[in-house]
Amino acid sequence: MTVTVSPRGASRWAAGHPWIYRTDTRLPQGIASGAIVPVQDARGRFLGQACVSLQSKIALRRISRSDQPVDVDFFRQHIAAAAQLRRNLYPGDSAYRAIHGDGDGLPGLVVDRYGDWLSVQFLIPAMEQRRDLLVPLLVEQFGCKGIMNRSDAGVRALEGLPQEKGLLWGSVPDPVVIREGQLEFAVSLEHGQKTGSFLDQRENHVVAGRYARGLALDCFSYIGGFALQMARRCERVTAVDSSEPACEQIRANAARNGIANVDVLATNVFDFLRAEVDAARRYDTVVLDPPAFAKNKDSIAAGLRGYKEVNLRAMQLLNPGGYLITSSCSHHVDEAAFETMLQAAAADARREVQIIEKRGAGRDHPVLLALRETRYLKCYILRMM
Ligand code: SAH
Repeated sequence: MTVTVSPRGASRWAAGHPWIYRTDTRLPQGIASGAIVPVQDARGRFLGQACVSLQSKIALRRISRSDQPVDVDFFRQHIAAAAQLRRNLYPGDSAYRAIHGDGDGLPGLVVDRYGDWLSVQFLIPAMEQRRDLLVPLLVEQFGCKGIMNRSDAGVRALEGLPQEKGLLWGSVPDPVVIREGQLEFAVSLEHGQKTGSFLDQRENHVVAGRYARGLALDCFSYIGGFALQMARRCERVTAVDSSEPACEQIRANAARNGIANVDVLATNVFDFLRAEVDAARRYDTVVLDPPAFAKNKDSIAAGLRGYKEVNLRAMQLLNPGGYLITSSCSHHVDEAAFETMLQAAAADARREVQIIEKRGAGRDHPVLLALRETRYLKCYILRMM
């Protein structure tokens, strides 16, 4: 069953964008969600093949520009290419995002590798329905001992898919121990947030560790990825997260690495920062890595207010020469909006701020040039004057 897209959809596709919105196509009667179908423009010219989602606003996601069958060999080739990229980027490393959905040409498939184990998200019907085909290929290409299914991501609801999690194949210990830089972290693939941890900040954790000094603060710390890298260079680090289980993991990971200069606080970062400013506390390094405050277009303004508040407070707390390592993972807040927000925070704080580095997600989260949505994570390293 071939699907025809509007001239607007076809021109976006031609410009490289891999998504066709519902408003740019009329899906034929009887077409099944999860089908992979040929796509043509209004004049009947073949454009490629795409995954169908009936419920989503994104009706079609490109999986191929050719008419070669999208079969087991196709998936083997793409998974092998993704695996090869990581082996080249990180020889010897064993924790990374192994497959990054559209970024690796495999829409709706996210695979994180934690040592000998994988944690997988099937985020669109086409991938959900091909689980039995994909699992043996993942085992074959990554040589893993077990696969955890973490298809309990909120975005599945937009696709009409239920939340699901549990063992898919083999066995998975809890926790799994991974290495980041010189440190070890225990990660629960079954109970952790997302697929177990936030691998997108892995490289930034290590970089933050090189800038950090003096008294440091890690806000939204989760399992302490930033806090513990900084602790090796700092006098003392305070790690703050509102989740009690996360705080337990920070303490356990600190102990695992023989780190004794980290104080862990289970509290709301907004309240904590306000109280620290009121008490005229000062820090030399502050990390901000909040959850996505702007989850959709309607929440961009409110999200930016949240980002501005925490960044303003952090700037107020920093000594001259101090570093602010500040992130946003909302793709709705692009780099320009993020910088405007930071500028407004600096203005309110009446401080001059230098941009030392602009970073993003690690290289194992490839950005598609034509798909802004893959450019979601901003991580700026700022220095207070
Ligand atoms: N910095 C972490 C990832 C942070 S994810 C890393 O690099 O691995 C965001 C974290 O913020 C989650 O652990 C969540 O529990 C916590 N969180 C969310 N809202 C919060 C709030 N208002 N105050 C404190 N922590 C919060």
